[in-house]
Formats: sequence, structure tokens, C-alpha cells
Amino acid sequence: MSFGTCSVCRTLIPLGQGSRCKRHRPKRVHALSSTQRGYDAEYRRNRRDLLADDDRCWLCGKHGANTADHEIPLSRGGTNHRTNLRPAHKSCNSSRGNRPA
Ligand SMILES: [Zn+2]
Ligand SMILES: [Zn+2]
Repeated sequence: MSFGTCSVCRTLIPLGQGSRCKRHRPKRVHALSSTQRGYDAEYRRNRRDLLADDDRCWLCGKHGANTADHEIPLSRGGTNHRTNLRPAHKSCNSSRGNRPA
């Protein structure tokens, strides 16, 4: 395999992967997925905290919720903040589907 060097820090990098190392590569292509990863981590953390406090499903009203539903879906501008998360059973959540609340 042949190598080039990062134009910023001169680290050796495989040819064909741009002119910069991973650390110095512009983030335009991967910006979306890294944002989504951050969202996922925030969602998981908030879901865990939420269910530790309250496991009563907001859809059927019974205890034992095992996931967190977005009151305002992410696709409609909702966030992963706890204020937008409601405890829900997976089954209740999926039967709700994508219909408007
Ligand atoms: Zn570099
Ligand atoms: Zn339920």
C-alpha cells in the first residue's frame, strides 16, 4: 500500500483517502452521522434516566415501560431532551406508528 501525508500534521495516510488524516479531514460528509450518533447517546442516557424515575407507559397507562417515545417526533423537530420523552412499552409505541399524536 502506498501512503501520502496529511497536509496539516504530516501523519502518513493511505493514498486515495484525501489529503488529510482522519483528525484533520473536513467533516462535511460525516457531519450528519456524527450528529446522529450524538443524538443516540443523548437519547439512551435520557431514556435510562426517564425509565428509572417513571416506568408508566404514557400510551396505555400501565407500568413496565421499556422504551421512551418522542412526544414530538424527531422528524417534526422534536428533541431527545427528557422534556420530549415519555415512557412507553415497545409494543404500544410501535402500534402508535407514525400517525400524528
Ligand atoms: Zn493530520
Ligand atoms: Zn403501554
